[in-house]
Amino acid sequence: MKAVVYNGPRDVSVKDVPDAKIEEPTDVLVKITSTNICGSDLHMYEGRTSFEKGRVFGHENLGEVVAVGSDVDKIKVGDMVAIPFNVACGYCKNCERGFTSYCLTMQPDPKLAGAAYGFADMGPYQGGQAELLRVPYGDFNCLRLGEDAREKQSDYVMLADIFPTGYHATEMADVQPGDSVVIYGAGPVGLMAAYSADIKGAGKIMIVDRHADRLKLAESIGAIPIDDSKVDPVEFVLNETMGLGADKGCECVGYQAHDPSGEEHTEMTLNNLVKSVRFTGRIGTVGVFIPKDPGAKDELAQQGKAVFDFGLFWFKGQTMGNGQAPVKRYDRQLRDLIAGGKAKPSFVVSHELPLDEAPNAYQHFDNRDDGWTKVILKP
Ligand SMILES: [Zn+2]
Ligand SMILES: [Zn+2]
Repeated sequence: MKAVVYNGPRDVSVKDVPDAKIEEPTDVLVKITSTNICGSDLHMYEGRTSFEKGRVFGHENLGEVVAVGSDVDKIKVGDMVAIPFNVACGYCKNCERGFTSYCLTMQPDPKLAGAAYGFADMGPYQGGQAELLRVPYGDFNCLRLGEDAREKQSDYVMLADIFPTGYHATEMADVQPGDSVVIYGAGPVGLMAAYSADIKGAGKIMIVDRHADRLKLAESIGAIPIDDSKVDPVEFVLNETMGLGADKGCECVGYQAHDPSGEEHTEMTLNNLVKSVRFTGRIGTVGVFIPKDPGAKDELAQQGKAVFDFGLFWFKGQTMGNGQAPVKRYDRQLRDLIAGGKAKPSFVVSHELPLDEAPNAYQHFDNRDDGWTKVILKP
């Protein structure tokens, strides 16, 4: 089968690799019809992680079931399914409590928790930027779609990661009807957080970024765009909220946060959130932060540390929730919003390209080239 293979920093190619196949009786085999490039693929693409050369990328996948193992009961050949990026067992202590993003059995390293397809340090699972994908515990890890699955696949494929991840940020921030919300980062996840805040009835949604194409998309869904290369985002948010700060905040940038000159400051968005959110406000952080980042210039950042304004955070009595989204917790509801015509997360998509175009697409997306907001590959 053809697949997007990592050759080394900023180098991917589409190669022939052995076909994915059923390996365990609980596996499902999916013929991928839509698979996204994600911002977290870029961390690996840039060589900032331990992602192994020769591995296949792709954790945002959707397709048609073409084979099922002998112990699969629910999922049938021919079903169209969206596949949460978390590979989870369904029966461990964390899965039972709904934290499929911290599954204890699918991650072979006992010091770690959580597994994903085509992801550094998250188990051996191949990615879905390929013609075929093996889904372990297929009954648990496939979300069945309705008859509109093919026609709306550019919406449904967002159920694999960015829509539930954006939604998770607003859940951890406890966004309620009428709330003012500030979101740092208008990449695909930040836009989904804004979209989710809108679904939850937020009164005012502000979103900070500096890329014109992303800010325009934010504006198109009714959010107030804030260009931090032109204004101080904290001042702007305070002005919009009678000096109090936003009720709730979402972090959708992660450890590679950088100022308009391009210099990285791991702590920048976190500290801006502490300053932009009101006393007793809540913050949800879904941007990726990692325990060590040997490629960083800053010595603290290399050790996964950030100079966080804990004093101000404590003083303001704020609460912060962190971590990867447990996609399954939200996916049925979000699917049904799409099915019912109430949500259309594909508004972030700029390109739908054949799999062969992946090397070119990675390059443009990594450069944050204007107009490359979200890419769907079509194997
Ligand atoms: Zn992703
Ligand atoms: Zn588990």
